[in-house]
Amino acid sequence: MNKPPVAIVTGASRGIGLAIAKGLAKDGYQLAICATSERSIGAAKEALASVTDQTVFAKVVDVSKQASVQGFIQETVKTFGGLAVLVNNAGITRDMLAVRMKAAQWQSVLDTNLSSVFFASQAALKPMMRARSGRIINISSVVASMGNPGQTNYCASKGGVDAMTRSLAQEVGSRNITVNAIAPGFIATDMTAELGDDAQQLLVKQIPLGRMGKADDIAAAVRFLAGAGGCYITGQVLQVNGGMYM
Ligand code: NAP
Repeated sequence: MNKPPVAIVTGASRGIGLAIAKGLAKDGYQLAICATSERSIGAAKEALASVTDQTVFAKVVDVSKQASVQGFIQETVKTFGGLAVLVNNAGITRDMLAVRMKAAQWQSVLDTNLSSVFFASQAALKPMMRARSGRIINISSVVASMGNPGQTNYCASKGGVDAMTRSLAQEVGSRNITVNAIAPGFIATDMTAELGDDAQQLLVKQIPLGRMGKADDIAAAVRFLAGAGGCYITGQVLQVNGGMYM
């Protein structure tokens, strides 16, 4: 029997990452997931048990630390013997007006949202180049293109992800590895729950499709890019935002 293809999803304990992990499990991938605590990763493992019989490799990882995220990827490849798909999803916000932003708020967002994507991709490229096949999918944000007051750190990190996606796609295309980003709009998760009801209603008014996105809307785009239909797409930033930015 053929071994199932392996997919890594970072930050898969909840929200968009968990929806992506569930979607890829339904598509038959063997999964490796990570998050920041035993509690959060344990809950995700339980949630995934309802959609897959396969063993899920789940680990506490701090993606903002090079050794931690690269060690996780190397351990996954050793455990399952290959890597077909890497989804760089883990991300944080530390919102503050620029004039008041502390260096730690700037640095933690850049380390978690941008440097992690580089170091994870670097580790993933080794097995993918050997196999002459692979898909890297980075979760960016609509605000990388729009800008957003109070989020100079977050917007810079996601803009960096978009630019890195294009460069890496050019470097590794000849090895049959695609690199794309998905830029979600306003998606209902813990991250946006922090905004409160009034701010959410104001934002929804700016969305032509008239609703917040669901984590599954982003998972559907990941499944498309990871699947057969995504084979000739690389270096792109796919906007999944209900029309809030065109
Ligand atoms: P979320 O609900 O806050 O979940 C964040 C996930 O990332 C959790 O699994 C969290 O783990 C993990 N994580 C955070 N820091 C980490 C670290 N240092 N190491 C490892 N894992 C870490 O966020 P979300 O809304 O699903 O967002 C997922 C991605 O989509 C992010 O990149 C975000 O920027 C992007 N995005 C979201 C929206 C939106 O509207 N929600 C819009 C555009 C882009 P724990 O559970 O252990 O904390």
